[in-house]
Amino acid sequence: MKIIETVKEMQGIADDLRRAGKKIGFVPTMGYLHEGHLALVRKAREISDTVVVSIFVNPTQFGPTEDLDRYPRDFERDRSLLEAEKTDIIFFPDARQMYPERYATYVQVRGLEDFLCGRTRKGHFIGVATVVTKLFNIVKPHYAVFGQKDFQQLKVIERMIKDLNMDLEIIPYPTVREKDGLAMSSRNTYLNPQERERALLIHESIKKVTELFKNGIRDASILKEKAREVLLSKDGLDIEYITIADTETLEDIEIIKDKALYAVACRAGKTRLIDNTILMED
Ligand code: AMP
Repeated sequence: MKIIETVKEMQGIADDLRRAGKKIGFVPTMGYLHEGHLALVRKAREISDTVVVSIFVNPTQFGPTEDLDRYPRDFERDRSLLEAEKTDIIFFPDARQMYPERYATYVQVRGLEDFLCGRTRKGHFIGVATVVTKLFNIVKPHYAVFGQKDFQQLKVIERMIKDLNMDLEIIPYPTVREKDGLAMSSRNTYLNPQERERALLIHESIKKVTELFKNGIRDASILKEKAREVLLSKDGLDIEYITIADTETLEDIEIIKDKALYAVACRAGKTRLIDNTILMED
């Protein structure tokens, strides 16, 4: 396994691999890896000859009051987890490599950023689209695997690929959960035991909304109200949003026809947690 820290070296290796006819599979991450990330790596391993994983805590996707400085980092641990998954290359640049002096170019995917997390995390998806564009230009992958846990991010990237004619395939991967249903996230490490317990309400709300949908309820306001009741039960969570939305445009839906996205963002203490599921007729 190689660890590459410079853009130039990574691009050179990507060129050589492409010339040799190798398919490059890529998993972009911010590190502090968990089973969710590793499932993406396994998927990339399955479909490509060379697997590249990037570890970069991208400053441009964090707002001024967000957790950039305290975002968890443990490169040695990440390195051994990735080695065990037969990763070929870790791309591990620092912020100077990615955003040198006089850096000025940003990628904006309009429309999709107006909903869900984009409402409160102003500029977040510009940071995401920008860093992912840069990573694609550096790693030159044929496939890039993204988790559905960050559903809006996945949609933003898919839109960007189409709009900018980027020549690669995006592979979505289902959300990996802890045994009790909590979606895995590097930020779960912030939770104290009481917050960890309350965080389970998010999965409870997914189960509730799914059950009601299966029982024929299609009115989004009823589904959202029931979700709210679950999220506020026991000591409850601070709700940022509860949405029933179109799976492509992310616009709010009032009455669900065949399918919809149920997505929530909540806080347990200071920790922001997101989760979602697709409601769909069998
Ligand atoms: P992050 O390191 O949080 O930026 O995530 C890197 C990639 O891993 C993104 O494509 C995420 O959607 C994906 N990911 C994070 N958590 C999970 C999870 N629990 N299940 C599946 N994919 C995930």
